[in-house]
Amino acid sequence: MGVSDGISRAARGKIDDVNPKRILVVGAGHVGLYAALRLSKKLSRREAEVIVVDPQPHMTYQPFLPEASAGNISPRHAVVPLRRELRKCTVVAGTVTRIDHDRKTAIVQPISGPTREIQYDHVVVAPGSVSRTLPIPGLHEQGIGFKTIGEAIFLRNHVLDRLDVAAATTDPEVRRRALTFCFVGGGYAGIEALAEMEDMARDALRYYPELEPKDMRWVLVEATQRVLPEVDRDMGAYTVQQLLKRDMDIRLDTRLESCVDGVVKLSDGDSFPADTIVWTAGVKPSPMLDATDFPRDERRRVTCLPTLQVVDGDRVIEGAWSAGDCAAVPDLTKEPGNFCSPSAQHAVRQAARMADNIANVVRGREPVDYKHKHAGSVASLGLHKGVAQVYGVKMTGWPAWFMHRTYHMSRIPSFNRKVRVVVDWSLAFFLKREVVALGQLHDPREEFVEASAPVGAAR
Ligand SMILES: Cc1cc2nc3c(=O)[nH]c(=O)nc-3n(C[C@H](O)[C@H](O)[C@H](O)COP(=O)(O)OP(=O)(O)OC[C@H]3O[C@@H](n4cnc5c(N)ncnc54)[C@H](O)[C@@H]3O)c2cc1C
Repeated sequence: MGVSDGISRAARGKIDDVNPKRILVVGAGHVGLYAALRLSKKLSRREAEVIVVDPQPHMTYQPFLPEASAGNISPRHAVVPLRRELRKCTVVAGTVTRIDHDRKTAIVQPISGPTREIQYDHVVVAPGSVSRTLPIPGLHEQGIGFKTIGEAIFLRNHVLDRLDVAAATTDPEVRRRALTFCFVGGGYAGIEALAEMEDMARDALRYYPELEPKDMRWVLVEATQRVLPEVDRDMGAYTVQQLLKRDMDIRLDTRLESCVDGVVKLSDGDSFPADTIVWTAGVKPSPMLDATDFPRDERRRVTCLPTLQVVDGDRVIEGAWSAGDCAAVPDLTKEPGNFCSPSAQHAVRQAARMADNIANVVRGREPVDYKHKHAGSVASLGLHKGVAQVYGVKMTGWPAWFMHRTYHMSRIPSFNRKVRVVVDWSLAFFLKREVVALGQLHDPREEFVEASAPVGAAR
């Protein structure tokens, strides 16, 4: 059994003449960070204490992952340090492994050491989502997702490293395989990742006299007949056109069937070896929800009321709140039966509504419904290229790209991050893009292990 937090509700009531409510925030992503920040500003310490648990020391602003991957902004500036932002909260570096809401208790596995048990009055369930994969042979061994800063930076180093491999080899097969990059899934994450990476690699080729842009093969595999389902069909078609103009290989209505040993086999019968297979074909709610007693819908999301309270049929689960990618939140701007899409746009707004509602309930007031009409989407297709549809207004090219940047700059939390991102972009305006691979970061001990090996040991 783990170590308890040591202070039970009753005991605390005796220690203090007030009994602040304990609010446990599970996950410090778009929902968790914004909710914790607002709760800690709205409620005094006499009213509530906010505990935030996340295994990462930072919130990742995921819409900036493609830009970080392409080297347009520093990876450090696409994340927001929790301890700096959440000064009034208690931050626990760990993973919530179980929630027993009947007992209002969560089990936390700190990043090291024994488990802890944390009791709470309110819980914000916001562990987000993970890549939704399929049982495709070879995918587990060969694929990589695009949801974390680690994946984005690994991919950047990997793509640049493949250029080095291709330039150094004399074997045409090795070169072809190194220069084949396959992305599966044409939502905004997949399209932006593909377009930004290709843009970066094309830029980098100016330093590789051995290689030409036509040596690279960038493949997008999408199971439906269109890309970017978040925008209208014509905008999706425009995006495909732009990618085709850049000689990308766009396979719509096609599925990845296998990629054993890096040999990609598609449902259209084509097959080719690729050193890079990126899976961006959707998300599913965090599997940690399986270790909770919260009600879920058929897509395994936590069922919520528009107030963001967890609900089981007609029964409101007192003290339980959820939002973001892991939650089924009714979309009140559409017909009944529709739910908010998994997007940062909803996540941050839901977080604010939820924090206000928790504050209301703590103060004995009624919670209010969340209602936001999805404004649309903005996507970058590489430097100075983009596509946007916001409140019905459609934009392409430079204006769309500019809008993408200004929108996300206004959204990333904290003044500090906004300034750093703008400085990165401004520097890139005057200086050429950094295209060096720091692949050594992924195996930093290799050289030391070799140097310190006992004399005579196999090398
Ligand atoms: C590449 C990419 C680009 C995107 N671009 C856009 C865009 O342009 N516009 C847009 O609206 N949306 C975009 N999105 C989607 C958007 O980022 C997500 O919808 C949003 O992050 C969801 O917020 P969340 O708080 O639910 O989850 P997250 O932000 O993912 O946060 C979940 C947090 O929970 C933590 N966690 C997980 N499990 C546990 C556990 N057991 N215990 C404790 N903590 C845990 C994680 O470490 C993480 O910090 C993009 C996503 C990606 C991947």
